[in-house]
Amino acid sequence: MKTERLYFADAYLRRFEARVVDQRAEGDRQAVLLDRTAFYPEGGGQPADHGTLGGVGVIDVQSEGDAIWHVLEGSIAETAVTGEIDWGRRFDHMQQHHGQHLLSAAFEQLFRLSTVAFHLGTDYASIDLPGTVTEEQVSEAEWLTNNVVWDDRPIETRFLEGAELAAVPLRKPPTVDGPVRVVSVPEFDHSACGGTHPRSTGAVGLLHVRRRERRGSETRIEFLCGGRALRDLRSKTLIVGRLSADLTVGPDEIEEAVRRIRERETEGRKRLSEAVSRLLTYEADVLIVGAERIGGTPFVRVDRDDLSMDDARSLARELTARGATVALGIRGDRTQVIVARGVGSTIDCAAIVKRVLTELGGRGGGQPEIAQGGLADSATLSEALDRIHRYLRESLF
Ligand SMILES: [Zn+2]
Repeated sequence: MKTERLYFADAYLRRFEARVVDQRAEGDRQAVLLDRTAFYPEGGGQPADHGTLGGVGVIDVQSEGDAIWHVLEGSIAETAVTGEIDWGRRFDHMQQHHGQHLLSAAFEQLFRLSTVAFHLGTDYASIDLPGTVTEEQVSEAEWLTNNVVWDDRPIETRFLEGAELAAVPLRKPPTVDGPVRVVSVPEFDHSACGGTHPRSTGAVGLLHVRRRERRGSETRIEFLCGGRALRDLRSKTLIVGRLSADLTVGPDEIEEAVRRIRERETEGRKRLSEAVSRLLTYEADVLIVGAERIGGTPFVRVDRDDLSMDDARSLARELTARGATVALGIRGDRTQVIVARGVGSTIDCAAIVKRVLTELGGRGGGQPEIAQGGLADSATLSEALDRIHRYLRESLF
């Protein structure tokens, strides 16, 4: 059964009458085959149309050879139905799709870069080009595309074959046999395409390239046309406005302001880390003075929630350099324990950590000189430090 594709003759047809000639189950949905349809089935990178058939929602449209199946949200029993296209969705697809033809033609003409893939999603559309594409090339292709849009040139669609087809300089050779549908913008682009296109290039409105991304051996160009372009630029204008107000600089000075903030932040971090390092040295001096001595060696127990793991290791280093054995617990995103021994000590820190943490449901290990591990529950940290202290006193290691 061949479905007549009404959108070939008139891409602006939104309402049509048709007959249901067959139906079947598509998962738990009903799908119907029509004798004629204005619904565009998914294909050539363009998503399927949505809309209604006999008042019931159409959620997917697929072609199988010449037959076009419409997947319904509910079910219909009648044979004669009125179809209605979700025009907002379709017109948006026409804008993106035709914008793609123009952008691909622009890259071809300006830089001999042939489009290798086209994607049209709900969020943005993209083309993939071979090799590296520079920002200047993007700029030039975008400018040429928009000039063709503003020229408002007519878009012609014709079925051609034989000598007539051979006479047309197609951007890409056709992939189908027999008559080929050619979409043309006079003196700019001729493409073999079964998609829906506006009557003239002006309907694309504006083509705006939003991103250029290197992907393997290709470059992906993300772009938006018409309403999508406007919405994207509108939201970015609001972002720039908010940043400009926050930073109390003009829009053109935002980059410079952010650069200065980052420089100050880097400098601030450096100074803070130097200050912390000096502070930890003093702290180690104070801790060692009041330390209990176990077997002639100072033992320092530390339980803190204000140290990073790096700071904790630095403090442990400062203390062991002063001959102390250290049991250091930190409470933060994770609860961790460090045990380290001073110069001359022969205790096995890895064995201590392993034993105590295992007893309390944690895990750890390391070297005889310094070992560390984590506890699943911060409530057990005190107990862990107590046990390390006790075992050391009782010379259980
Ligand atoms: Zn096309």
